[in-house]
Amino acid sequence: MQVVIILAVALSLILAVILSFASSVLEVEEDPRLQDIIDMLPNANCGACGNPGCKGMAEAILREDAKLSQCKPGDQDMREAIAEYLAETPNESGEFTKTKM
Ligand code: SF4
Repeated sequence: MQVVIILAVALSLILAVILSFASSVLEVEEDPRLQDIIDMLPNANCGACGNPGCKGMAEAILREDAKLSQCKPGDQDMREAIAEYLAETPNESGEFTKTKM
């Protein structure tokens, strides 16, 4: 019985080390502007923009694949705030994202 417990603990530790290593190797860095854009969207997560929620819309905006007017609950102030933010805030490579109103 003690052998089984020792084997289970050893196997758990080995798997924990493997998962920790895989997590650090496979980590994907996120555009730091993503959360700022999400925060500027209405966060209704209604999907009216054709994206899977506000995070999906923010990702589409950063890929230049979405018009800001696709967000139906969003108003003109929101669109102007996001456009101004992206005009002033480049990505980590120094590139600016073009916004479509
Ligand atoms: S339409 Fe606007 S509020 Fe609705 S999910 Fe898209 S970005 Fe979010």
